Amino acid sequence: MNARSVILTGGAGYIGSHIAVLLIEAGYEVVIIDDFSNSSPAVIDRIEKLSGIRPQLVEQDLSVPDCVDGVSAALAGRGYAGVIHLAGLKAVGESVAQPGRYYRVNLGTTLNLLSIMEKIKCNNIVFSSSATVYGELNPPPVDESGKIGPTNPYGFSKLFNEQILADYAAANQGFQVINLRYFNPVGAHPSGLIGEDPKGIPNNLFPYIAQVAVGRREALNVFGDDYDTVDGTGVRDYIHVMDLAEGHLAALKFALEDHGGGVACFNLGCGRGYSVLEVVNAFAAASGKEIPVKVVGRRAGDIAEIVADAAQAEKILGWKTQRDLNQMCIDHWHWQEQNPDGFA
Ligand code: UDP
Repeated sequence: MNARSVILTGGAGYIGSHIAVLLIEAGYEVVIIDDFSNSSPAVIDRIEKLSGIRPQLVEQDLSVPDCVDGVSAALAGRGYAGVIHLAGLKAVGESVAQPGRYYRVNLGTTLNLLSIMEKIKCNNIVFSSSATVYGELNPPPVDESGKIGPTNPYGFSKLFNEQILADYAAANQGFQVINLRYFNPVGAHPSGLIGEDPKGIPNNLFPYIAQVAVGRREALNVFGDDYDTVDGTGVRDYIHVMDLAEGHLAALKFALEDHGGGVACFNLGCGRGYSVLEVVNAFAAASGKEIPVKVVGRRAGDIAEIVADAAQAEKILGWKTQRDLNQMCIDHWHWQEQNPDGFA
């Protein structure tokens, strides 16, 4: 049995690729399960280049109903320390337009993964959840006991996944679940070799700004400047993707200690909020590029402000963020400048 092996679903994606590099550097054998539906096979080469070891790849859409036997067979023959589960759809606006698809894919993937974990006898899962499970019901900062209330199907799919995992842990003694509620991941590996490469028009603030800075888009549309915030624009808790990846390693380490199973939940954020205009100014300073902005109407489903109370992760996991907004902008820009067309 090799308990240093880790299964990483969605490992070719933005966050997954950064986690893969850190896992390999920490001595884990990494098996990525990904279907490249929102990522590029070139990511696997980059992970190898950065870490010196090529992760094993199982190319599979885990939401396909009959994938369990095939994937279990591909994984058989060794023991696994745990699963880090990131695979899923993640565009909020798309989830509002296609709720059935979001529930089918995001819940189906987790259900199949649990069947696979049962077959290969793996009892630890670290799940990629989201601060969107809180919605707008909490004055910032919000801790893990905050009121739950997603405002879109994507957020509900994260919440329902947390529920499925909790029910599963209750029914299976020794099964350990760690839910990580991410705030707003941005930035890139300092090498500039991996980073966020959204397909089509970026939904999120940082990749959009980066594409304006690199000349792919003319101006940033600022979605509303009439919120009750410092300058009227939306405030979010941005977290460097390297800090986020380190949070997963801390969570995995915690899961590997014997807590007798059960569910633990942690916010992963900085505990500090920045407005859209503060981010634009920081990115312009870090890149030396002008970022033209155009204020437009509010985006449906957006909330004014959300900021993490991440004290629990520091206390229990011994983890806290190390990188500030300037570092997030420098690294995000470095990646974008070196890869103006992403992995293409
Ligand atoms: N935002 C914006 N223009 C964009 C994308 C985002 O003004 O093109 C704003 C958005 O309204 C929010 C903040 O930037 O206040 C962060 O949005 P993002 O989509 O990155 O994250 P989320 O909404 O999931 O927190």
